Amino acid sequence: MTLWQEGMIRLARSAKVKTFAQRQPWLSGLASQFVGGATAHTALHKATELASNGIAATQFYLGEYVTDPAVIDHTVAQLQAAIAAAADKSLDACASVDPTQIGLMIDEQTCTTNAARIANAIRKAVPKTRQGHDALMIDMEDASVTDATLRLYWELRSEDLPVAITIQAYLHRTRADLDKLIVAGAWVRLVKGAFAERSRVAVRSVADRDSRYRQCATQLLSRTAREAGAYPSFATHDHRLIEEIIAQAKAHDWSPQAYEFEMLYGVRPELQRDLVRRGHRVRVYLPFGSDWFPYAIRRVGESPRNLRFVTSAITRHAARPPQS
Ligand SMILES: Cc1cc2nc3c(=O)[nH]c(=O)nc-3n(C[C@H](O)[C@H](O)[C@H](O)COP(=O)(O)OP(=O)(O)OC[C@H]3O[C@@H](n4cnc5c(N)ncnc54)[C@H](O)[C@@H]3O)c2cc1C
Repeated sequence: MTLWQEGMIRLARSAKVKTFAQRQPWLSGLASQFVGGATAHTALHKATELASNGIAATQFYLGEYVTDPAVIDHTVAQLQAAIAAAADKSLDACASVDPTQIGLMIDEQTCTTNAARIANAIRKAVPKTRQGHDALMIDMEDASVTDATLRLYWELRSEDLPVAITIQAYLHRTRADLDKLIVAGAWVRLVKGAFAERSRVAVRSVADRDSRYRQCATQLLSRTAREAGAYPSFATHDHRLIEEIIAQAKAHDWSPQAYEFEMLYGVRPELQRDLVRRGHRVRVYLPFGSDWFPYAIRRVGESPRNLRFVTSAITRHAARPPQS
C-alpha cells in the first residue's frame, strides 16, 4: 500500500473530516462521481441509466463497521427498498453488503438474520421464472472476519437463498475456499483484496497480488467450474488482466454470458462501455446513501488520477459568482 493510499485511508477513518466534508456543497462533485445519490430513489435512477447502456448494477448502502441496531435496521430497510424498486423496473435485484454493516459487530446470529431478511426480499421481488442475476452479494472485509463471512454465505446457501460471495485473491487460504465454492456452482466475485493484511495471511506486493489474481481467475475458468455452473464475476479495473481473462475464457469455451466483469460506479466508465460494446457482461457496484465521504476518498486513494474530481469540484465552486 502506498503512502498516498494510507493517507487517504486515514482521512476516510476520521470522523471529524467526514462530518466536515459531507457538509461541504463544493465537494458534492466528488460524491456524485462515485455515489448514486443519497436515496434508493436516486440510485434507481442511476441504475436505470446504466441499464440503458447495457450495464447491470449491484446496489450498496453506504456505511461500515456499524454497532447501532437502529442504523443496522435502517441499512436493511434501505436495501430492501432498493431491491423492490429495481425488480419493479425489471432490473437485476442485486445488493451488496458488508457483514459488519448488518450485525457482525454485534454477533454472527444478528448478521445472519439480517442478511436473510435482504436475501428473502430478493427472492420475493423476483418472479420464479426469471433467469436473471439476482442475489445478495456478500462483500469480504478484513481477515479477522473471513471465517465468519464464509459461514454466513454457507448458512444462507443451506437455506436456499439467492446469495453470492466475494473472494480476495491475495489471501493464502483462497485457493482452498475457491475449490469448495466452485464445486458448489457458486456465484463468486473475485477481487484482489483491499485491506493491509500481514504477510502471514496474504501476499503483500502488487506483483504477487496480481499473480494470485491470475491463478484464481484460472481456477474460476476451469472446466470443473464451468460444468458445476459456477458464475465468476471478475471485479477489477485492470485492463491487462481483463484482456487475459477474456482470452482464457474463450480458450476454455466459456460463453461471454457465463461470466461478468464488475467495476465501481464512476471508475473507468469508458472501459465499462467498451466491454459492453464487445459483447461482455458488465456490472457496476453502485453505492448510495448520505455517508459518502469515506467511500469516495478511498477511491481517490486507490488512484491519484481520481484526485481530479476533487480539484474540478473546487475549481467549479471557485468559479461560481458569490451568493448574496
Ligand atoms: C465491484 C468491486 C467490489 C469490490 N469488493 C471488495 C471486497 O468486498 N473486499 C475487498 O477487499 N476488496 C474489494 N474490492 C477492491 C479490490 O480488492 C481492489 O482493491 C480494487 O479493485 C483495486 O484493484 P484493481 O484491480 O481494480 O486495480 P489496481 O490494482 O488498483 O490497478 C491496476 C491497474 O488498473 C488500472 N486502473 C485502476 N484504476 C484506474 C482508474 N481509476 N483509472 C485508470 N486506470 C485505472 C491501472 O492501469 C492500474 O495500474 C472491490 C472492487 C470492485 C471493483
